[in-house]
Parts: sequence; C-alpha cells; structure tokens
Amino acid sequence: QTPTARRPIRDLPDELISQIAAGEVVERPASVVRELLDNALDAGASQITLRLSAGGVRLILVEDDGLGIPREELPVALRRHATSKIASLQDLESVGTMGFRGEALAAINSIADMSLLSRTESDPHAWQLDGRSGELKPAARARGTSVEVRELFYATPARRKFLKTDATELAHCVEAVRRHALVRPDVGFAVWHEGKLVEQWRACSGENAQDQRLADVLGEEFIRKSVAVYYESAALREDGSPSIKVWGRAGIADAARARADLQFAYVNGRYVRDKVISHGARSAYDDVLHGQRQPVYALYLDVDPARVDVNVHPTKIEVRFRDSREVHQAVRHGAENALALPRAALAELGSE
Ligand code: ADP
Ligand code: MG
Repeated sequence: QTPTARRPIRDLPDELISQIAAGEVVERPASVVRELLDNALDAGASQITLRLSAGGVRLILVEDDGLGIPREELPVALRRHATSKIASLQDLESVGTMGFRGEALAAINSIADMSLLSRTESDPHAWQLDGRSGELKPAARARGTSVEVRELFYATPARRKFLKTDATELAHCVEAVRRHALVRPDVGFAVWHEGKLVEQWRACSGENAQDQRLADVLGEEFIRKSVAVYYESAALREDGSPSIKVWGRAGIADAARARADLQFAYVNGRYVRDKVISHGARSAYDDVLHGQRQPVYALYLDVDPARVDVNVHPTKIEVRFRDSREVHQAVRHGAENALALPRAALAELGSE
C-alpha cells in the first residue's frame, strides 16, 4: 500500500468501535472489575461478591443486590453510549454516579463472552441476556444483577499477550476491590478465586465505620500509626458549605514506607491518582520525612462538582481541578494540622 493510493473514508463497524474503546478502558482483568464494581455501587448495592478464575482472565463474575435492570433494558445496557446516569450536559457537570459514559459494558462485551443476569423489585423472576447471541431467557436470582465475563481478550490476542501471571492479575483485581472498599465502608465485599475466599470485608455502620473499614482493609497498624484528618476550606460554595472538605487519616512519620503503595486519595467518592493531592500530602511531611520515604494516607476530598472535571480520562482515574492551588492547600493544611497535634502533645510531655 503506497501513500499515493488513497482509500475512501468509511464509518468503522460498530463492533470495531467498541473494541477500540475497550483498548482505552480495559487493560487487564482488574479494569473490568473496576467498571463492574462502579456499576454495582451506582445501582445501590449493599453487598458485592466477586468470583474469579485464572486471575480473572477465564472468569469475572460480579454479583450485587442493587436495583437491577428490567428485562426490556438489558439489551440497551450493552449498547455503546447508552446510560441511565446522565441525560444532558447539565447532568454531566454535576454527575454524582461513578459511571456516566455508557461505554463499559459495550466495550467489555466486544472483547469477551459476557452475560447479564438481573432482576428488579417488580420482576416476578430474573432474566438473563447472552451478550454474543442476544438471546434473552428467564432465570432465577434475588433482586440485583450478576455480570459474567468469560475469556477476556479472546478476540484481541495482542492484548492478551500483555497479561502477567494469574497471581499478578488476581492481585490487581483485589487491589481494585480494595480501592472501592476503602471509600464505601457501608457496603460488604467478598472476593473468591477458584472457589476459595480470598478477601472479605463486612459492611460497617455507625460513627466508626470509616476507621473500621480502614483497619479491616489496611490492618490495625494503619490506624494505630495514623492520625485523623479533618479540614474545611474557608471558601464557600453557593449553598454556603465549604468549597473543599478533606478527611481521612494520615500516617505518622514512623509509618512511612520505601514504596508509595499505601497512598489512597478519593475525590467525591472516586479513587484518583492525582499529582496535586499527592504533592499536597507529601509537603505536609517536608520537615519530618527525608529522602525517598513515602508517607501512608487515605484521604477523602469533597469538592464542589462545579470545580472538578471528572471527564478527563476514559477510566476516570484522573481529574482536573479548576483551582488546583486551593486543593493543594486544603490537603496540605489538613494533613499538617492533623500531624501537628501529636507532635505538640509530645513536646508538652517532654517539657513537663
Ligand atoms: P455507565 O455506567 O457509564 O452508565 P455501563 O456500560 O457501565 O455505562 O452500564 C450501562 C448501563 O447499564 C448503566 O447506565 C446502568 O443503567 C446499567 N447497569 C450496568 N450494570 C448494572 C448493575 N450492576 N446494576 C444495575 N444496572 C446496571
Ligand atoms: Mg459503568
């Protein structure tokens, strides 16, 4: 094919468009897990069970007890850019759900064997949709949804070649569940691999739910060696509430690690990787952590949705703040103030 022999411009087939989109969203089994967990949480689930086989490559089954999908909407759920979560640009600007792009199920369906089994409150029984054939048949289950994904990347062998060992893929899947579990203590999570229970975090309630979940997921030591963070910005939203709130826990200097593997940051309930937040947090440790030591923390930010754009990255792991300085300061001050308390107390002890 020479560059001079021009080919006509054509629309890509639908299936191929989805496969291309899948390349952006689905890197490995853990990416599917993340999308399916988002969906279960958006559906109001209180218990989510994940069953995996071969690190998720052979099977990912996510079962929830959420609102379910009515029979007539099951095929729509698999369509590209079909969503129940937003309907207008205005909705997008203030989106409160994890999903809104209507892409995940269509993308996954184009690169794996998928089935949806669901039942709503008013259905006399469940319905199961086979993603490949489109066949819809009656089935049995309580209210909620089961999404089954088999043979991931069977259609895209190039992607399959990049997969690591089952153990590594499983670890990534568990990490995806951990990230969700840390922000939703009110929801119970269980992870099974090859029929064995690998992790289970029971739903927590009451005032201590967040700390309880942190202890369950990250260990008691994380709580023992960290201090509570709470910070509200002086700047206010239109409704009079602080434009930024930061809470969670910041590890004391003693808990710092060689690797940055215990740093969790959330913006409006969504796990994010963000330089502004990580730099803000790190700068709270400037005078106590030297060299390459990495602080540990779990920080939750509540930011005015009008001041943060979540539609930056297909997987939504990155966000863009309208005023990143404001966010940086809130995180830094939040962590600094929290860390200063125990130091002040120690200094007082020493002077007695
Ligand atoms: P999005 O989450 O961006 O809307 P998805 O492709 O992930 O797009 O899902 C498409 C639609 O299918 C969702 O908008 C929702 O209505 C429905 N759906 C998907 N998963 C579930 C679930 N576990 N429970 C209830 N509804 C679901
Ligand atoms: Mg989704």
